[in-house]
Amino acid sequence: MLRHVDVAAKSLEPYRAVAGAEVVAELERLAAPLRGARILQINATAYGGGVSVLLRSLVPLYRGLGLTVDWRVMPGTPEFFTVTKGLHNALQGASFDLTEERRGLYLDHNREVAEALRRQDHYDVVIVHDPQPAAVRHFLGGDDTRWVWRCHIDTSHPDPAAIRFLEPLVAEYDALVYTMEEFLPADLRDRPVRIITPAIDPLSPKNLPLPDDLVRGILAWTGISLDRPLVSQISRFDPWKDPLGVVEVYRRVREQVPGTQLALVGQMALDDPQGWEILRQIQQESVDDDDIHVLTNFTGIDDVGVNAFQRASSVVLQKSIREGFGLVVSESLWKGTPVVAGRTGGIPLQMPDGVGGYLIESTEECVARTVELL
Ligand code: UDP
Repeated sequence: MLRHVDVAAKSLEPYRAVAGAEVVAELERLAAPLRGARILQINATAYGGGVSVLLRSLVPLYRGLGLTVDWRVMPGTPEFFTVTKGLHNALQGASFDLTEERRGLYLDHNREVAEALRRQDHYDVVIVHDPQPAAVRHFLGGDDTRWVWRCHIDTSHPDPAAIRFLEPLVAEYDALVYTMEEFLPADLRDRPVRIITPAIDPLSPKNLPLPDDLVRGILAWTGISLDRPLVSQISRFDPWKDPLGVVEVYRRVREQVPGTQLALVGQMALDDPQGWEILRQIQQESVDDDDIHVLTNFTGIDDVGVNAFQRASSVVLQKSIREGFGLVVSESLWKGTPVVAGRTGGIPLQMPDGVGGYLIESTEECVARTVELL
């Protein structure tokens, strides 16, 4: 029932050049006592969104360190993922009616996943990512397995009913991992907690150096001219990333910098049914403007395509209203492309205002900073 994601082991040797020999030596030292333990990572999708990007790089590196780490994806129906996206949104502050029926659907499905896992291999440590599979621990705990809940979202201003529902489930874990101290709800402060910031993988296809002619070729293939300014946002189509706000920014920027083009590049995630509705709204908004390009993994933009867009853009926007971390910010900065991004969640950890780009808190500021950088 839980799909196994097939990734290989990857040596850390090439990372000495980017992370430094000391960091690699420290990782080897930390890994040594864990060799022999069986570790499982569970999340809700093998593609789409930062969690799958992180696991896609981390699991091979853990294996390269000699650890036994599996990655399994919980299955889910559209109804289940509609409830979990609502819960995700509510944990980030939106209102969502967590009715008895929705709670039941969420818990029943987590119970089924737990039962399927019980029938599979035994693990010494299970690391559960985000709210979708968070209740699996509740239905499966009790033996000597150690459980870690890894929260990737901003839960600093949650809807009270949503956090009341999730907290007791999460409190059962042996340890919690958050991206920022501020995201930790007050009632969980006495739990064992670690703060760990995500990071990009400089040696993944999304971040490897690309020859200029390949970048130009990919952009030309999408119909974008590199002779005119290009502003891009590369993100899931999600209300917290404010893609419609990005269209408004583009329109106002274009009044001052005629000829500017906009690319909205989005990956449709298996566990995010809301993305399709937002994609429809963006397409409706942009139908009369040939200089707005809406592109997805379904229309040919893979990791190398994202890499090319992050290199070729004049400015990368990340107009987030709430953000867990926002890997896209580091990805663009890594390529030396200026970023204009919402001052929210983990974004300021990656980019102090004025270093590599600007942090903004309003559409007006976003327009002004983008114009300044073009
Ligand atoms: N991404 C992608 N293709 C796209 C849009 C986004 O591969 O068309 C990737 C992006 O490069 C980043 C991840 O999806 O690696 C999004 O992670 P982030 O932390 O920025 O946001 P999340 O989706 O987890 O909220």
